[in-house]
Amino acid sequence: MDFQQVFGKPPETQASAPGRVNLLGEHTDYNDGFVLPTAIPQGTTVQLGFSSDSQHHFYSENLNEQVSISDINHQPSGFASYIFGCIELLQKAGYTIPSLFVYVKSSVPMGSGLSSSAALEVATLRALRQLLNLPIDDVEIAQFAQQAEIQYAGVQCGIMDQMASSLADTEHILFLDTRTLERRVMPLPEKAEILVIDSGVPRTLAGSGYNQRRAECEEAARSLGVKALRDITDVNVTKTLPEPLQRRARHVVTENNRVLEVLQGVTSERFGELMNASHASLRDDYEVSVPALDKLVEILQKTEGVFGARLTGAGFGGASVALVRSGESESIATHVLEQYNQAGYNGRILVPSLGLSDAA
Ligand code: ADP
Ligand code: MG
Repeated sequence: MDFQQVFGKPPETQASAPGRVNLLGEHTDYNDGFVLPTAIPQGTTVQLGFSSDSQHHFYSENLNEQVSISDINHQPSGFASYIFGCIELLQKAGYTIPSLFVYVKSSVPMGSGLSSSAALEVATLRALRQLLNLPIDDVEIAQFAQQAEIQYAGVQCGIMDQMASSLADTEHILFLDTRTLERRVMPLPEKAEILVIDSGVPRTLAGSGYNQRRAECEEAARSLGVKALRDITDVNVTKTLPEPLQRRARHVVTENNRVLEVLQGVTSERFGELMNASHASLRDDYEVSVPALDKLVEILQKTEGVFGARLTGAGFGGASVALVRSGESESIATHVLEQYNQAGYNGRILVPSLGLSDAA
């Protein structure tokens, strides 16, 4: 079912936005630290048209689901909340938004940590900007998108996902200082591309583990007399802390320093070493890895053509990200998955998307 079939007329305009993967800087965002995401080839496309009744009508091709809401109605739930949030936040900012037909289709896997939610928000806002000639820039789009997710979808997220979707592309990485929002768009390391493989292990303990780590970081920062662990740059300072706070703080401090090193300009080989060091730190100091992710990352790191690999996202399951030689991600993935799945796991390639069209 395309737009015309669902809404009875063709769309007026459309816009797309990519998903993202974080290459370096894990568990640093809630410590006011630094992150380094890039866009993935898969994206979300949003098509818009004018609805003639006083209701908005949203359709998701992926869910094969349609939702109709009037402005004065209560807040919608599910996928409609992300779209409605974008619309209502623009209205609250003073823009007049007419009743709309909204058609969504996406090649970003949903709920796999590649930020299909940010892609949906950013694509929606880009399409609205285009349709209505709104004077909002890409950073404002990221800010509206983040607020839509927090206030309407009820997800307490930072701004990394939305900034990456709005400002990065597959050729560029986004350095972001999560405290000041200072940012820099930089080219991807030379002759390299991204490979993301899902471990097949669901992130069951992610919620509780995440909250515990956050609390430990806050306690460590309090003990050290700083606002956030981002304010510590010398790793020796963490030695005064009791365990496990010492190891938690050491991860955050060394991880921030790894991201800052990339900012100075590094080769693909060095970038890969920093990713490997990040994984070791997440495994040993931060203790958010699981045996499956360790196995997957270990196989990746031993494979010819891989510059470096680590777990990506909060951990406790989920996906790995690797920096690999240009043009080799598919053959490397096949080789790695053969070994990984032989060990009894059920991994699958998320990026590049094999067989699926990237254009959404
Ligand atoms: P992630 O952002 O890592 O993919 P989230 O749980 O943050 O995972 O976001 C997934 C949710 O975003 C989905 O459950 C759905 O509500 C919404 N969503 C994202 N993309 C689409 C889409 N193409 N169609 C409908 N809903 C979508
Ligand atoms: Mg999300």
